[in-house]
Amino acid sequence: MSGIVGYVGKANAPEILVRGLRKLEPRSYDSAGMAITENGGITVVKTLGTIAALEKKARAQWAPDRARAAAAGIAHTRWATHGNPSEANAHPHLDASGKIALVHNGILENYRALRSFLESKGSRFVSETDTEVLAHLVGWFYTNDIFQAVSEALRRVIGAYGIAAVSALEPDHIVTAQCGSSVSIGIGVGGSIVASDTSVIAEHTQRIISLDDNEVAIVRVDDVEVRNLGGIPVSRTVPELDEVEEAVRKNGFAHFMLKEIHEQPESITDAIRGRIDFENATAVFSSMDAAPCKISELTRVVMLGCGTSRHAGLAGEYAFEELADIQTEVEQASEFRYRNPILDKHDFAIAISQSGETADTLAALREAKLKGAFVTSICNVVSSTLAREAGRGVYLRAGPEISVASTKAFTSQVIVLLLMALKLGRGRRLSRERGLELANAIASLPDIVRRTLPVNDVAKRIAQKIKDVEHIYFIGRGTMYPVALEGALKVKETSYIHAEGYQASEMRHGPIAMLAQGTPVIALACCDEAERDKMIINVEECRSRGAYIIGVINAGDTEAARHMDEFIEIPATHPLVAPIPAVIALQLLAYHLACLRNCEIDKPRSLSKSLTVE
Ligand code: GLU
Repeated sequence: MSGIVGYVGKANAPEILVRGLRKLEPRSYDSAGMAITENGGITVVKTLGTIAALEKKARAQWAPDRARAAAAGIAHTRWATHGNPSEANAHPHLDASGKIALVHNGILENYRALRSFLESKGSRFVSETDTEVLAHLVGWFYTNDIFQAVSEALRRVIGAYGIAAVSALEPDHIVTAQCGSSVSIGIGVGGSIVASDTSVIAEHTQRIISLDDNEVAIVRVDDVEVRNLGGIPVSRTVPELDEVEEAVRKNGFAHFMLKEIHEQPESITDAIRGRIDFENATAVFSSMDAAPCKISELTRVVMLGCGTSRHAGLAGEYAFEELADIQTEVEQASEFRYRNPILDKHDFAIAISQSGETADTLAALREAKLKGAFVTSICNVVSSTLAREAGRGVYLRAGPEISVASTKAFTSQVIVLLLMALKLGRGRRLSRERGLELANAIASLPDIVRRTLPVNDVAKRIAQKIKDVEHIYFIGRGTMYPVALEGALKVKETSYIHAEGYQASEMRHGPIAMLAQGTPVIALACCDEAERDKMIINVEECRSRGAYIIGVINAGDTEAARHMDEFIEIPATHPLVAPIPAVIALQLLAYHLACLRNCEIDKPRSLSKSLTVE
């Protein structure tokens, strides 16, 4: 997830920009840069490395007194969608005159057409990005009014963006705009700050306004003017916020866990962004192209993970077998190296960890590497040990996950695995048509999740009914089995109620003996019809032992609903992606159980976010 910071004011602009970028650092990024207006020109520094490397360059460029002469600046952490991570592709990008600089989060869908147009008018591009095209387009419309030029340019753009732009000829303000990727503005004393995340601003001022889509703002040292894309002023009062930064960061939610559950439409959008190639019905992961043998020659996938990450692996396993037609095993990373695993270069080992620092997963990755497997990593934290040691990998782009109980990182892990399975499948025997079916199902997930989140109220009501129980059982079949495991884990972690997840038919092989009058059984019946019918049989077995059945069912499935004491309806979707809405319903249930039991929620007892000991 990329980030934007902008500053106009009397303080040391490069320093404020670096500080802002540092706050955004936990989000995934691959390069960074900043542009400062000074003496009628613009100076740009960029790096392919970390913010620390950028800071070093900025310090060398702007000695403290020189920095003070700077008027306005913009900075960016990039997460490449168009063009490799490289210094040339890093933002800010300049227009043809070199007098306008622009940073951008998002994707411009019609950039090719715009680029051809501008090239025909003489523009020469130095990067492969869609963003540079926008910078040139702003330059094309520029007649000494950067606001006017940005608005003109954005009216011609199709896509998602949050942007900030400066002109060397108007160094007293920044222009910022959003459509699908947010930017907020803070008005402080002696300076104003623009950022893609309010936590960057909250450090400087509590007077914050957030833009709505299709709005453009002129941000000056001590005021802001908001207009729509047509130039019509939009009235905005700058609020006096008195909440502490923590509350700002929680964005109005009582806990980080609830906030992060609700962030999933965005985190999923970020996980998918730029990674689906609809044309070829496949996924784009350059890191997978580096396999020592052809994808078609890989004989096995071995996933390594612990806890929630292992559950994500189990959810992905179905897709690998079903679509990629490849034998897949999901291993408990903590045990892996204590066996003598048999691996060679035809094995594709995927190490999965939110933090990328999980000691057990790291040890398993090293073992797989040692044995010659083709290894890759899936993690959220950029430059984590796992990502570095694997040497290649995929970032989740889920943004910082503060709650110890993982929610949005889990859904992004599952999605990245589905995309990997799609890519692997298309390199093997998967037809374009079936590939497209999954690609479309994945692309629809942000919307599906948006439609799932309103189950919050039902989940809360059900939690109220079962909050005092001792045991809860979660049962699922097929792709819903990993969801059952994850639901039970979430309940254990946050509410300290004993919970277990089982394959539904496994109940009769022992666990059913545990059921007493009123024991809650959460039945994940939101699968396809054949599975659902079998599930109903399992449900009836539990019910006849007195269980209190809570179904998670597809919206409108009255047949399933008839067999449940309570039910949560989620939008029906492709079976391989159905774990996403289903698990979100369970995340909400676990959250409310924990709330009602007055548990610590964001920092459960005895648990830590990244387990760096074996
Ligand atoms: N599409 C732009 C690029 O690839 C912006 C990516 C981002 O959101 O960082 O440079």
